[in-house]
Amino acid sequence: MLTPSWTTEFKSSYKTLAELEAFLGFSVSASPEVTATYPVFIPRRLAQKIKTQGPDSVLARQFLPHQNELENQQAGFSDPIGDQRFLKAPQLIHRYPTRALFAPTTVCPVHCRYCFRKNELYAKEEMFRPEFEQTMDYLKSHPEISEIIFTGGDPFTLSDEKILFYLDSFKTIPSIKDVRFHTRYPVSLPERIDEGLLKILITAQKSFRTVSVAIHVNHIDEFDQDAAHAIERLSTTGVQLLSQTVLLRGVNDQREALVNLFQEFIRLKVRPYYLHHPDQVKGGLHFYLSLEQGRTLYHSLRQELPGWAIPQYIIDLPGGEGKVPAHNSESHQFSGHLITLHGDTISLEEPVSPS
Ligand code: SF4
Repeated sequence: MLTPSWTTEFKSSYKTLAELEAFLGFSVSASPEVTATYPVFIPRRLAQKIKTQGPDSVLARQFLPHQNELENQQAGFSDPIGDQRFLKAPQLIHRYPTRALFAPTTVCPVHCRYCFRKNELYAKEEMFRPEFEQTMDYLKSHPEISEIIFTGGDPFTLSDEKILFYLDSFKTIPSIKDVRFHTRYPVSLPERIDEGLLKILITAQKSFRTVSVAIHVNHIDEFDQDAAHAIERLSTTGVQLLSQTVLLRGVNDQREALVNLFQEFIRLKVRPYYLHHPDQVKGGLHFYLSLEQGRTLYHSLRQELPGWAIPQYIIDLPGGEGKVPAHNSESHQFSGHLITLHGDTISLEEPVSPS
């Protein structure tokens, strides 16, 4: 049973290396310079899981600061997916004709050390922007936009009142038919999935054609009973539940890890949706793996999972050109060579001539 309010839990998160190390009982491999550049923010419940699972766990690797973040600072991109190029109105990124990203907050329930926005988000505050009228004007003058994707930061950081304000505003624009929220709260701070939020999601379905929640989880070890309960509660609202996962070196770059994760999503009635190839983010390159490694892994999922349980493997092109499929066709290369699998490796063969 989840009793404390989510705001109480949020405020009690660990925000300094010293208090975090004192709680964990082991040293974190990061100097104060690392956390001065990329601050710490870890909810107590997550810190407890890291303490239990240990300093080499996949949770520790994703959320504890590490000295590697300051190495190779000349490489990588501050804005690896080119969001700023497509910032068309306050907090509105319009890259694809029919969808727009709306980022009303820079605050998250945890600081993921691999985050593609880590050079923009950390240490900033939530913004309830007065220029919202400009955003509305842009949306009204672009009726081709049919879906608003709430992003951030994490949009569930907003109070219920602010989420309602935005939904009430967007529903006055007839061309906006679908809304989607991308969030890490269900596993990072599941207390957020409370009665107030569930009610908002139920009510929103009367005003929009679809309401979706894309849940960001990278490894099965992130789930626990409270997270599963939060996701099951989301499921009862009738919203479409989608998954979102980032492929990360040292975290989930094993076939078994991905298979276990997608099977758990299915068990929780979350449709596997996106597997992101990692972005080349400044301060996060130690999580990067090559496209060839990612493709080999992705192809191998076919042996373990039915097609409907496999998410789309995509890559955001550096520079802002958007998401493109990261995988090759299952059986052909553009050269016409056949791709065959030998265990975990892929080899190319000449196509067989028709007889
Ligand atoms: S929750 Fe998302 S936006 Fe926030 S730090 Fe993690 S990856 Fe970045």
